[in-house]
Amino acid sequence: MGILAERMAQVSVSATLKAAAEAERLRRAGFNVVDFTAGEPDFPTPEHVKAAGKAAIDANFTRYTPASGIPELRQAICTRYKAQYDIDLTPAEVLVTVGGKQALFNTALALVNPGDEVITHAPCWPTIPEQVKLMGGVPVIVHTRSDDGFTVKAERVIAAITPRTKAIIINSPGNPTGALVDEATLSAITDAAAARGIWMILDLCYEQLIYDDVPHNLPRVLFATHRDRTVLAGSASKSYAMTGWRCGWTIAPKELTSAFNIIQGQSTSNVTSITQKAVLAALTDSQDAVAVMLNEYRVRRDNLHEWLTANPLIKCVKPKGAFYLFPDISGLLSPDGLKTSADFAEALLEKEHVAVTAGEGFDAPGYLRISYATSMDQLREGATRILRFAESLQPARA
Ligand code: PMP
Repeated sequence: MGILAERMAQVSVSATLKAAAEAERLRRAGFNVVDFTAGEPDFPTPEHVKAAGKAAIDANFTRYTPASGIPELRQAICTRYKAQYDIDLTPAEVLVTVGGKQALFNTALALVNPGDEVITHAPCWPTIPEQVKLMGGVPVIVHTRSDDGFTVKAERVIAAITPRTKAIIINSPGNPTGALVDEATLSAITDAAAARGIWMILDLCYEQLIYDDVPHNLPRVLFATHRDRTVLAGSASKSYAMTGWRCGWTIAPKELTSAFNIIQGQSTSNVTSITQKAVLAALTDSQDAVAVMLNEYRVRRDNLHEWLTANPLIKCVKPKGAFYLFPDISGLLSPDGLKTSADFAEALLEKEHVAVTAGEGFDAPGYLRISYATSMDQLREGATRILRFAESLQPARA
């Protein structure tokens, strides 16, 4: 018998963390590393949000809170979703979690039985299928492609439904592609889910990071017909540059929220009291900082996209949200050169000291994830190095 529980055989370590650790190793060895692995904003937390956290400490707001979160924060989340999506919520449907990660973890723990299938789309953030596996569930992956902008097609998701399907997880804007799921697609998938009593789970981690003014009222689509089987997972991490504070939330029917409350009451209890006060300020005070960050990401995206696609063998969709480029570099791979995107990422780090995450980590071999949550100088330098590396792989031109 093994030392660890059997479920540990199912899960794997995060590829992003592995790549970041490798970059750190080279940096320590004295190399000038350009690191494009970050899955987090490079901006500081806005001043007024930090001030609210400090004020909470000074006011001795440092004790346990209700496991589900302080009432004013749960109310602020209701108010925010009403303003942003025009959905009516009560605090009994909201629970504050340790990041969007715990929001999704609670959901998987409360809903997935061993053997249950959970459909999601790839390229995907690996935690989504890994959490399903931790529960003994079976992730069913519907692949999308760069040729059509990583568009999720309703008919392909619906075709993946079986009698064992328990839930469908949609992530929009998506990590790692930055693609958006459109309202009509979600509506068609939701109709199919409603007909079969399947849960719809929507990961809105990057909801404030959408570059154009396009319709993206996915919560309302779900609430229109399927509210009793919908979970929304939100997060303060990316919207407010608060990754280390660890705060997210679930919006779910009361009964399921009570189950989440039990899970949290027996595991982590409340999110840090100080964090909750800071996130309350983030949600209720000025949103100017969000707009400033979004504008900066937009400029970075446009530049980096333009620089990289100067090489025609780097095919790259311009992302509509989040802060990653996800280029298809399969044109630079060959049977007698670098065979896989993982080989490519490794050689790029060794030769040019540029750290990226290989597509394999997102169930998408042949691609790279490049986070542009870093300075313009780093982006320019990194792009130069990537292009030089790409050139070095191409047969000498006549
Ligand atoms: N969903 C997606 C798609 C993500 O990329 C992340 C973070 N990388 C999360 C959820 C969770 O982030 P957090 O726990 O910091 O809220």
